[in-house]
Amino acid sequence: MERCATLFLVIPPHVITALRESIGKDSVITDRESLLCYSYDATRREAIPDLLLRPGSAEEVSAILRIANREKIAVIPRGAGSGFAGGSVPVQGGIVLSVQCMDKILEIHKDDFYAVVEPGVITRNLQKAAEAEGLFYPPDPSSVNFCTLGGNISTGAGGARGIKYGTTKDYVMGLDVVLASGEMISIGTRAPRSVAGYDLTRLMVGSEGTLGVLTKAILRLIPLPEKIVTLAAIFPDLYSATSAVGQVLKSGIRPLVLEFMDRESIRVVKELLPIGVREKGEAMLIIEIDGPQGIIERELQRVEEICTKSGAIDVEKAATSSDREKLWTARRSVSPALYKINPTKINEDVVVPKSKLPDLIGEIEKIAAHYRLQIVSFGHAGDGNLHINIMTDDKNAEEYGRAREAVHALFKATLGLGGSISGEHGIGITKAPFLPMEVGDRVIGIMKEIKKVFDPNHILNPGKLWP
Ligand SMILES: Cc1cc2nc3c(=O)[nH]c(=O)nc-3n(C[C@H](O)[C@H](O)[C@H](O)COP(=O)(O)OP(=O)(O)OC[C@H]3O[C@@H](n4cnc5c(N)ncnc54)[C@H](O)[C@@H]3O)c2cc1C
Repeated sequence: MERCATLFLVIPPHVITALRESIGKDSVITDRESLLCYSYDATRREAIPDLLLRPGSAEEVSAILRIANREKIAVIPRGAGSGFAGGSVPVQGGIVLSVQCMDKILEIHKDDFYAVVEPGVITRNLQKAAEAEGLFYPPDPSSVNFCTLGGNISTGAGGARGIKYGTTKDYVMGLDVVLASGEMISIGTRAPRSVAGYDLTRLMVGSEGTLGVLTKAILRLIPLPEKIVTLAAIFPDLYSATSAVGQVLKSGIRPLVLEFMDRESIRVVKELLPIGVREKGEAMLIIEIDGPQGIIERELQRVEEICTKSGAIDVEKAATSSDREKLWTARRSVSPALYKINPTKINEDVVVPKSKLPDLIGEIEKIAAHYRLQIVSFGHAGDGNLHINIMTDDKNAEEYGRAREAVHALFKATLGLGGSISGEHGIGITKAPFLPMEVGDRVIGIMKEIKKVFDPNHILNPGKLWP
């Protein structure tokens, strides 16, 4: 990827001096080993930044952006670097601005059901803090134990519980943002609702660090469910599993999660699973139901019946909280464990209307056969959002070429089914060439105009969203 000609390639010494004076010398990092650690994300794409900054406050972020904007130096905001779209990779060099030192939960308001957090808070830490107060922060990406809330907001992260409680965007009430100019703004509200002008809070959600740096967030909380029950159902083929998904959704029961894993996803984490997965199982559903004890037991029984009627060969309830935890550890480990199969995976996160899930599975099978590739699928079936992993080796140019073509075919099929090319990971660099396929040139033009208002010198996360 070429660097943008309008931006400095190397940070001039007077800029480094100004930054050291503004945020302290310990927060300005130049050694190559540290820079390497901030050069990649979960896509394994990499580009070494010229400088790493670790500010500790919104004021320091503002000082950095004032200097960078004046000097026209690229700034790439970064949370934990767990993104699956290359959003935090500094493809045009410049400054990586890590918010990892801004990691405080500032307030939890039990009566008004919201929390105020800094962007570097690890998502699981907010969930735990909320639970201690009898409250619930539902967004639950599988990376929950290491990703940050700032990253979640900036990517519009989803997760398993989206089916019942929605995704990150449904929980962002307000934000403090530092604009490219260094100006600090507060948007949104602590009140349960507001229609005061354009919804800039919603605009920031999913903007992938291209419109401003988030320095504080007001996040909605809800009451903690009384109880959660979990079951795993094993199916003899993909179609009986996806048909069970449809039947559960039609039954009027709204599960907390309804996750899907195909045979290879089960195989790569088999030793982590607490339950006896039968060898002949081609697919597994993990289903959770939350609510008051009496109701969830009844609903769970109904879901068990639906699974059995749809052809499940085994339906097993997680008997203890340790079994449940083990099941989730296994499910959350699928993505990294896939590297056991191939050195490279192209991980897409397409989403289709729920009723089209069986059609999507059919299209994936056709694409795998046509391009002679192994494709592994798992994910948030209850929301029509699957992680489609095209397994390949990027050192094998011929095969990798076929894999790239398969991605194009997958997006075409997804859009044909009325879906979207990204349900939760965002566009970043990996999907940038495909964004026009979904939204069209006119809409991209409007997005670019919005970008110009927020960041006229184009210093914030250049090279992302559109090539
Ligand atoms: C094993 C695994 C499982 C995953 N499962 C899921 C899942 O179930 N659902 C899901 O949605 N994602 C999932 N992801 C992807 C990833 O964890 C999410 O996209 C997450 O939201 C990224 O958070 P992060 O802190 O790592 O952000 P980063 O990767 O550091 O950054 C992501 C984007 O946000 C921007 N950004 C970060 N912080 C700020 C800030 N303070 N201000 C402005 N911009 C900022 C960056 O510039 C970048 O564009 C998974 C990843 C892994 C490795």
